[in-house]
Amino acid sequence: MGVSHNLHLAFQKLFKEHAGYPKFKSKRFTRPAYRSNAVNGNIALLDETHIRLPKVGIIKFRAGQLPTGKIKTATVVRSSTGEYDVLVVAEVEIASWHQTKALAGIDMGVADLAITSDGKRYATKRFDKALAKKKHYWEKRFARRRHQAEKEIAWDKDLKVVAPRRLSDFKNYLKAKVMVAKYSEKVVNQRRDYLQKISTELVSKYDVIKLEDLKTKGLLRHHHLARAIANQSWRELRLMLAYKAAWYGKQVVAVSPYKTSQRCSVCGYDDGKHELTIREWTCPRCHTHHDRDINAAINILAA
Ligand SMILES: [Zn+2]
Repeated sequence: MGVSHNLHLAFQKLFKEHAGYPKFKSKRFTRPAYRSNAVNGNIALLDETHIRLPKVGIIKFRAGQLPTGKIKTATVVRSSTGEYDVLVVAEVEIASWHQTKALAGIDMGVADLAITSDGKRYATKRFDKALAKKKHYWEKRFARRRHQAEKEIAWDKDLKVVAPRRLSDFKNYLKAKVMVAKYSEKVVNQRRDYLQKISTELVSKYDVIKLEDLKTKGLLRHHHLARAIANQSWRELRLMLAYKAAWYGKQVVAVSPYKTSQRCSVCGYDDGKHELTIREWTCPRCHTHHDRDINAAINILAA
């Protein structure tokens, strides 16, 4: 739940006026936080944009998805961009989703993040690339301003100034730092939203989802950025699939990816190792023409 600028103001005001209010423990932690337990409705959602928190009172927020159920705790976290997030833990009774009797195997790739045995592809989206230019603009400024600030701090020390400036005194430097953090956060949020959509769709569509066991997929051998992003996305997607399946009465099964991309899913013929560049192949025994990824997904389903 992202909280608007109003909360920022509310807190600033609060810290000035209420000396006894719990402060964030240290500025050095990247994500300082404090938690309140719900007592007698002191934490309550009033409508889609307002929440009541202990001592702070009613504040405005924006959120993609509203929490439902009985709220147990609310934790206020300051993000690296200086905004505040309120993490709400609520007790919810979840009804299972209706059974579709459908099963799917899912192959995970780099160009396509996920390919189902039905032939549906979910493309890998490079949210980092879409925002790279803007982020780089601020990264350059951040580096330059930091360098300049450090130089000026050194001068202060050389001149034995009574109160030499510190990095936190350089407003332009701080702004650039916040902007860099903001774009990193944006990339993470966009990717997470995308994975939430995919996992929800898969769990609603299938009763049983079979996936490759990632431990055996040779994750650490690859150092390319695209591969690193794919690894991270697979992990997150698997996690989402696992907890959503548990919530909604579906099932996720991990299978060994052994030979899934080289065995013919029709007759079982082992065609030997296929290089990654080979996207399609024809089985020499039964002459079925295969899409590499879909054939692998079908093998995962059959495993
Ligand atoms: Zn075959």
